[in-house]
Amino acid sequence: MRVGILDIDTKKEKMGHGKFDRFPNLACGKIYGYHKMQGDEIFYPYNGERVDRLYVSTIFSWSRQAIKRMLPLWEQLADEIIIGGSGWDEYPNNVHSLPKEIESMDPRWTYDLYGIDYGIGYTVRGCHVGCGFCMVWRKEGLKEHRVSHIERLINPKSNHIVLLNNNSFADIGFFEDVEEIRQRKLTVNWNQANDITILTPRHAEAISSVDFYNFAKTERTLHFAFDQMFKHKVIEKDENYPTYSSLKHIPADMMRIEELKDNKVKVSFDMMRVVPEKLRLLSEFGIRKRKVTFYMLIGYDTTLEEDLERFWLLQQYDANVYAMMFRDLNGKVGVDGRGNKQSPHVQPFRDWVNGKAFRNVRNFFDFDRYQSALGKQRQLTLF
Ligand code: SF4
Repeated sequence: MRVGILDIDTKKEKMGHGKFDRFPNLACGKIYGYHKMQGDEIFYPYNGERVDRLYVSTIFSWSRQAIKRMLPLWEQLADEIIIGGSGWDEYPNNVHSLPKEIESMDPRWTYDLYGIDYGIGYTVRGCHVGCGFCMVWRKEGLKEHRVSHIERLINPKSNHIVLLNNNSFADIGFFEDVEEIRQRKLTVNWNQANDITILTPRHAEAISSVDFYNFAKTERTLHFAFDQMFKHKVIEKDENYPTYSSLKHIPADMMRIEELKDNKVKVSFDMMRVVPEKLRLLSEFGIRKRKVTFYMLIGYDTTLEEDLERFWLLQQYDANVYAMMFRDLNGKVGVDGRGNKQSPHVQPFRDWVNGKAFRNVRNFFDFDRYQSALGKQRQLTLF
């Protein structure tokens, strides 16, 4: 069988390692392994060859249009086309996963396909938080569950491992993972934004005991999320789970706890106060604040004033900030979390933060891109 595989929006990775110089798409790696085991001929990256089956995987919803444009051509070249990935799923009703026999393939097939010299994957999937703007819990469930152990993810070519877990700290196996990383003398990149509300002295101590880095292993950094002014969660009252037991490490006046039925509580965290509290905790364990990067969601439910408040707070603590513009789960841009037109400050604000323009133009209101966005909005209002 002739099989084509295309990871349409797999971005170039900066690490420079790997024969395709791309961030590995784990689903494509597993599909590759599965068909290799069947003795099939693989075409990767697919480039218009005649094949029996073509797999197209997309991580980002903005690739949908490109896929739709290419589809008539692919239909002439492939007998069967299977398209999937987080960017192709339609939420909430049309969400797909890989068949079990493919999902369970050894991660080393991915390393082979992409020619990479680091381990990458998940030890835990799912997330209990259920943020309205996120597809993780819709796809993987509202409870963290173990899917692998560290040893299975190690790439024999190196001791660096990239963990894609969406909520590592909430995972009951987090401390075991850290212990294994430490004992095996691995370096680790917790690649996704961690939930800082769950951070306890035990987490901070565990983190400080290992060599953590960014993806490319060029800088020692940890990633956290600061998406909203208030973070809300419903959690089970179970002391065995970090997400509940961690509440006692947050001063009572920084959160509101509401009792629910079924042994659950709804917790609202005041992030403008919780974030500094936790940054201080990281410092106590020798993790310098500068090693911390916050992903800051903008354009979802926060105002310009709130975005500025969050940004300057993080600046005050010497944390790095990366602003991420909200786009809805089906890829629509320019709308906020309620489907209303996004505020004109959102895109210029992203440029001001990520392009480091704030270093020269301290007052965002003086930033030329913001002024021109306001000008355009005024013109539209006039007509
Ligand atoms: S905490 Fe992160 S992974 Fe979990 S639902 Fe929210 S955004 Fe998604």
